[in-house]
Parts: sequence; C-alpha cells; structure tokens
Amino acid sequence: MNDHRQERRRIGQVKEVTSLTNPIVKDIRALSQKKHREETGQFMAEGLKLVIDALELGWTVRTLIYAKAAKGKPKVEAAALKALNAGALVLEVSEKVLTTITRRDNPQSVVGIFEQRYLPLARLQPSKDETWIALDRVRDPGNLGTIIRTADAAGASGVVLLGDCVDPFSLETVRATMGSVFAVPLVRTGLSEFIDWARRGDVQLVGTHLEGAVDYRSIDYRRRATIIVMGNEQQGLPGELASACAALARIPQQGRADSLNLAVATAVMLFEARRHLLTLESKR
Ligand code: SAM
Repeated sequence: MNDHRQERRRIGQVKEVTSLTNPIVKDIRALSQKKHREETGQFMAEGLKLVIDALELGWTVRTLIYAKAAKGKPKVEAAALKALNAGALVLEVSEKVLTTITRRDNPQSVVGIFEQRYLPLARLQPSKDETWIALDRVRDPGNLGTIIRTADAAGASGVVLLGDCVDPFSLETVRATMGSVFAVPLVRTGLSEFIDWARRGDVQLVGTHLEGAVDYRSIDYRRRATIIVMGNEQQGLPGELASACAALARIPQQGRADSLNLAVATAVMLFEARRHLLTLESKR
C-alpha cells in the first residue's frame, strides 16, 4: 500500500458507490440543472488535471469522485487525499455511475464538485495595466467558456457578466473553459450597477460595435484600466451601455459575413489590448 493510501485510510474512509439510485449520485446528477446549481452554490468539473489545478488554486471542493479503475494511480490518490484533508466527501464509483453523473459515454476518471465563486463588483478595482472583459447577456455556453479560456490565455484579469447571462458554472461552459474557469475571476452584476460603478471608478469602457467609429487598433488601451465591452450574440450592445463607453471600436471586416462570432471578436480585441500593454512593458 503506498503512502497516500495509508494516509488516506488514517483520515477517513472513501465511500464506494455502485448504485445509480444512491441519493448522493442523484444530487450530483441534479447539478446539470441551473436551479440545483443555484440552490447549492456548487458545480461540477471533470478531469484529473482540472481537479488538481482547482485544488492547488484553493477552490473549495465538496465531493471528489473517481472511477474504481483509477484507484491506486498516484495522482488520483494524491487528489483524493487532498480532498479528504479539506473535509470533502470522496467517492469511488463504477464506470456506470460516472457515465450517469457526467452524462458522457467515455467519462473522465475523476470529477470534482466545487463551490461556485464570484468576485463582488464592489471589490473590483482594476489597476492601470489590467484588461477586463464585460459581456452583455451572453447566451451561448460555448461562447462564454471560450471567452473565459481566451481571457486566461491573453492575460486578462477577469470577466464581468452583465444582466441575464448564461451560467458560467454549467457543465457545458466549464468544459469549454478547459480549466480556465478556476483561473479567471468572474463578476456578476446588473447593467445599471455596472454603468454606475464604471462612472465612479478610474476605468475606461471600450465598447465593440459593428457601427463603431474607431478602428480597434487605434485605441489607447494603456491610459487607464480597460474594460472591453462585448454585445449580445443577437442584439449587439444596448444603447445605454454603448453611450457609457469612452469609445466604440470596430474590427474591420471583409467578405460577406455581417459580424464576427462573439468569442472570436473578444479574442481579437483582447490580444490587441494586451499587445499594447506588453509593448509598453518591454519599453520600460
Ligand atoms: N446582430 C448583432 C449586432 O447587430 O450587433 C451582431 C452581434 S455579434 C455576433 C456579437 C458581438 O460581437 C457584437 O455585439 C460586438 O460586441 C462583437 N463584434 C462582432 N463583430 C464585430 C466587429 N466586426 N467589430 C466590432 N465588434 C464586433
């Protein structure tokens, strides 16, 4: 028996679950519904790497589930031990139970149930060299997940969700973030609260608009902390939000497409804004 397993025995027992009607399994399965995620404040993340990253980043784990077939693998044992140490429930389950929980035919061998986390708007005080993204009523879980992943990769500081957005902690969005959901702070707020906050703070809102007056490459992203504001997939930016922006940027297009996909437009904007800041840093 390896050290992790001995240690794990000392701390607490891992529960074996094989029945699909087990109430814990039912509860975890219910996390696929937004209502249940909101009531419990929890969400599911799949994959050993993601779970290890989340534990290392200090996210609160409530339950760790691993496949019986993964038992004894050093990294799985280490993650289970860490979860037990943190007071989480650890379940060893059959492949059938994992398939049911994740609603996938070839499920990952480790799944974590974590507490959701949002940064309150009042605590958002970005410094001059930071870039944030604000998304107005984003509807598509794949778009949101891709944007969170892109924000992470581009070195953005976080994402603000405005109004009635899709849930960042849905299984589909979490999958699309490829783990970046644990690395990118999220703020959730209403439109008018956000506009009031931006007016009071030392930030510049750069809106993006198909009719934008300014080429996105000619904006100075270094003057103040920048929040790049992206419109809804169908309706674009509402007038109230567009008027609160210091500039409305346009990404020039060719061809017949009338607009870029929201996540693609966000990536173009983010990498340009970060390029400006990195260029400044290298000149220091
Ligand atoms: N029918 C919508 C409209 O009229 O605005 C199209 C929305 S577009 C799919 C979603 C968002 O991506 C836009 O609100 C804007 O924020 C951004 N976007 C897409 N293409 C853009 C472009 N060429 N220039 C600036 N922003 C763009």
